Amino acid sequence: MGVLFWEVARQGTSMWAQWIRDRYLRKANLWKVAIHSGCSSSWISILKAREWILPKVKYLIFEGKTINLWYDPWINGKSLVDIFGRVTYDWGPPKDCKVAALISNGKWNKPNRSPAELDMVWLEIQEIEVGGKGDDILIWPASKIGSLGLSEAWNAVRTNEEVLPWAKWLWHSIQTPKHCLCSWQAYLNKLPTLVRLQRRGLTTSTICSLCATEAEDADHLFLGCSFSRFIWCVLMRDLSIRSTFPHLLSHLPQWLNTHLSDPLKKELAYIILTTTFWHLWLERNNRIFRRTKQHKLRILHRIRDSIKMRAMSKVFRVLPNPDYSRISSAFGVQILEKALVHTTIKWLLPQGDWFKLNTDGSLADDRGGYGALVRNNKGDFIIGLAGRLDLPSINLLELKAIERGVLIGIAKGVDKLWIESDSTTALAWLHGKGKIPWTALRSLRHIHLNLLHFSVWKATHINREGNSPADMLASHQSSRDETIFHPHQLWPDMVEAIEQDRSVGEYTRTR
Ligand SMILES: [Zn+2]
Repeated sequence: MGVLFWEVARQGTSMWAQWIRDRYLRKANLWKVAIHSGCSSSWISILKAREWILPKVKYLIFEGKTINLWYDPWINGKSLVDIFGRVTYDWGPPKDCKVAALISNGKWNKPNRSPAELDMVWLEIQEIEVGGKGDDILIWPASKIGSLGLSEAWNAVRTNEEVLPWAKWLWHSIQTPKHCLCSWQAYLNKLPTLVRLQRRGLTTSTICSLCATEAEDADHLFLGCSFSRFIWCVLMRDLSIRSTFPHLLSHLPQWLNTHLSDPLKKELAYIILTTTFWHLWLERNNRIFRRTKQHKLRILHRIRDSIKMRAMSKVFRVLPNPDYSRISSAFGVQILEKALVHTTIKWLLPQGDWFKLNTDGSLADDRGGYGALVRNNKGDFIIGLAGRLDLPSINLLELKAIERGVLIGIAKGVDKLWIESDSTTALAWLHGKGKIPWTALRSLRHIHLNLLHFSVWKATHINREGNSPADMLASHQSSRDETIFHPHQLWPDMVEAIEQDRSVGEYTRTR
């Protein structure tokens, strides 16, 4: 029902949505229409979905022409009626007034004569981003593309939203199912450890059978116990991972994400993880139930054998890495090093009266930046800019670079613009391809609107190696939010990079 409600709320064009609007919403607002006894049961259940949808929606306001000023929840999930308690007729705007009444020239504009209630929320309203051309869009922010589909609706109503970051690895085909199951249960604290058994009154002693000193809960048995730590220590050393293995199961997913960027190490680490969990649990069971005991070196040996059996079944194709020879001998992994491929990247001069705009975004240590520069058909630097902006995604920064870059092109009176970016994603979005996230929509609209200033434009991809002046601007450190550079303001490295593009324009890419 949530999805049906969404279809109506988002001004969907299906026959069904139009019928609903004709039948129920000619004189009423979807967000406010009351449920009464005359409503059909399906309409009632659609309206009931409102309750969980309303607090989670967001409007992307452009011109404000499609949002009802009074009734639509455009102020961070609240409507003016919610805030005022009623429609104040003495103020002026009629019931069907749109938010556009408060916008002029793409900015919020408070009417001269406005009630005290509006003054109170005005600060909040001014923080809402506005401007640009076109219809406003209702967004489901929790979904990447901003739309409430079946899976988003399911996620929103279901209580447990946690998806374990390593779940997909745990159930990877290379894994042994019983090892995975054991690790899974260990992680969820579902294994009958002595501490859990004692809580249910099923045992009196909780002393760990591996170290005979501490209480046996899942965190201790699998990670904290001196017996287990010895094994982890050796295995992680063999994997060339130097950071300390976590002591708590709840820290494990984060640790794995942080320390395992190398694909080979990552894949092996998951096998090591599940295999070790299994063998630790097995040894613990043997000690408790069978009264047999193996030395930790013996267990380590068994774990290694078991890992080798699994890893043998696969050949890893990877780029050369000095750590791999050790890993290969420790775990019997077959490693096939990919040969390095050298490609020549060419930065081409724009021809005739074309101008070229190179753009780049950068995201390092949570510092976002973007850079852009315009050059003519001789490769001369015309104008450039460097900005910093806290955006969570590199692709949004790449898009921001294009957005701002297009503007400096307009400012310089460019007529034919060739945009060149090293981001295939930003370029795909620019061409309306791929799954465009809602967070990119505003920027994209700005870009397309501004591209109308040029008689012709094109946008193409260049590999990073050929885009270094834009890269230098994107990572330029400045105290200001955005700096415009004119030719005489460039620093020596930048001048050199531009000269390099102009005179040689060839770079080697190795991968
Ligand atoms: Zn122990």
